[in-house]
Amino acid sequence: MDGKPVVSPLWYLFVAFLIFWAMQIYLAPKVNEITYSEFKTALTGGKIEEVSISGNTIKGLMKPETSNAEKITFVTVRVDDKDLVSELSARGVKYKGEVETTWLRDLLMFWVFPLILMLGAWSFIAKRMGGGVGGVMSIGKSRAKLYVEMETKVTFNDVAGIDEAKEELLEIIEFLRTPEKFQRLGGRIPKGVLLVGAPGTGKTLLAKAVAGEAKVSFLTISGSDFVEMFVGVGAARVRDLFAQAQEKAPCIIFIDELDAVGRARGMGVFGGDQERDQTLNQLLAEMDGFDTRKGVIIMAATNRPEVLDPALLRPGRFDRQVVVDRPDLKGREEILKVHIKNVKIGSDVDLKVIAARTPGFVGADLANVVNEAALLSARRDKEYVSMAEFEEAIDRVIGGLEKKKRVMNKKEKEITAYHESGHALVAEFLPNADKVHKISIIPRGVAALGYTLQLPTEDRYLMTKSELLDRLAVLLGGRVAEELTFQEVSTGAQNDLQRATDIARSMVKEFGMSEKLGLVTFEKERRPLFLDVSGTPSKEYSEETARDIDREIKRIIDETYEKVKGILSGHKDTLEKLAKRLLEKEAIDKEELREIVYGKKEEKETKSEAEGVR
Ligand code: ADP
Ligand code: ZN
Repeated sequence: MDGKPVVSPLWYLFVAFLIFWAMQIYLAPKVNEITYSEFKTALTGGKIEEVSISGNTIKGLMKPETSNAEKITFVTVRVDDKDLVSELSARGVKYKGEVETTWLRDLLMFWVFPLILMLGAWSFIAKRMGGGVGGVMSIGKSRAKLYVEMETKVTFNDVAGIDEAKEELLEIIEFLRTPEKFQRLGGRIPKGVLLVGAPGTGKTLLAKAVAGEAKVSFLTISGSDFVEMFVGVGAARVRDLFAQAQEKAPCIIFIDELDAVGRARGMGVFGGDQERDQTLNQLLAEMDGFDTRKGVIIMAATNRPEVLDPALLRPGRFDRQVVVDRPDLKGREEILKVHIKNVKIGSDVDLKVIAARTPGFVGADLANVVNEAALLSARRDKEYVSMAEFEEAIDRVIGGLEKKKRVMNKKEKEITAYHESGHALVAEFLPNADKVHKISIIPRGVAALGYTLQLPTEDRYLMTKSELLDRLAVLLGGRVAEELTFQEVSTGAQNDLQRATDIARSMVKEFGMSEKLGLVTFEKERRPLFLDVSGTPSKEYSEETARDIDREIKRIIDETYEKVKGILSGHKDTLEKLAKRLLEKEAIDKEELREIVYGKKEEKETKSEAEGVR
């Protein structure tokens, strides 16, 4: 569909040329080609009336056999004949010399024709390769890669299992529908929404659904399309994209794979990637200079928020972030329901069972399962899809996913269940820890997902010592639970330990919370949160102090560890009950957790959302 306006005129030209050529041959006066000897015979026989002699040929008129017939036009190849002219004069034949006009033919033959042929072949190849001639011919115009849908037919009903994300987008829809009303009521106009989640969780689908629900146009481009070989092209494309969005407002711009353009600047190996940096700068500038009142929302998707340039996440840019989680058991069932709508299903099919068999699957995987199952049934000439086909389809899809290492095996799942239960119980039993909001063992794929969504919260630096100690304890809870249950530990706690150590170190070095070292700050300023610049900061203390600091950190962690061990050993039954339930349901909310821990439903104040400890 791209390239078309460029390719077709070329072909029209080519065809027109062929027709023109054929007509020339067909309509040209009939010329008899004769040999030179025939010509000489005719000449001696007095048959030749007139000739015109050019470099290579002799053309002329010959008298017909019978006097009332038409004269014959002839042509012959000229040979070296010194006496020709005198002979023609002697016989009274009119003759004239002529310079052959071959330039037009030469031009056509040797220039225009091959050129057209080459252009034709090239455009054909280019089209085959998928680039489209448009991409080359209109460098800077993103039209070749930009897809515009005036009306996506997708609605929120097509998106299932990610209700939290849907809820957060309701406001955006509201705004797109009635921007004026929204402004009158004083709503802060959103500009950019970043959808964060693993591939296939439905980010694109969600963005389309927002456009569909709000009945606005949907412009989509992939971040990788911005990154071109030539410096400046990406930036030009960004400019073009925003210009088009202004024209089509109200609309949604959706940038898939934002990380392809949005990586932190100046991080390239050899002094940075100029082209990408330029493109990103352009994007930031466009977002800043953008008038939201026209009703344009920029949405973007990424599964690697941690590599994004922090500038992208500042207010007025992608300051809203929506997590698109992997669906839990219930969510998977809902998604399956959406996808079997157009499939004939046998009565033995139980979507609950299918959902239970597909932990870790994202929406795209489930769509794949339904599709595979339908294909299998078709191959077997069945009228409807039965459970057997679903079972087989699941196995196939799992096989594909295992190669990509995206599903947990049973043992991993069990360990994770105990690990998470450990975190949750410790948080529940410690007075100063943030209360648990939800526990889940649905693999998140991206380890950094939870991390980035806890954007540097200010209160982190306004915490009391006991709060910090309890947070430390919660972090250790996962590992201790593993130890108590399996008598060994997994690598899954590595990130927890890292964070625990960070907290302990901050307590000693920054906050002066160690009795031994006292009210001293050893660190001048905090390092940037996103970029862990390696290289030790210049120390301003002696080796001995450094050793003391290390000892203090270790002491804090060791003491906390013992405390956690005490808590969890005392509630081993609860730990097991919780882990078992988690294994079964994959996700447990706060009410259910309380019920398991305290035996009955109990309304308790929740202090804040739990952090995504893993
Ligand atoms: P992403 O953009 O997150 O990689 P997509 O939106 O492209 O994922 O999802 C690919 C396909 O998977 C969708 O077109 C849809 O058929 C299916 N799908 C993914 N998530 C969901 C969901 N939550 N509900 C229904 N279908 C889904
Ligand atoms: Zn953990």
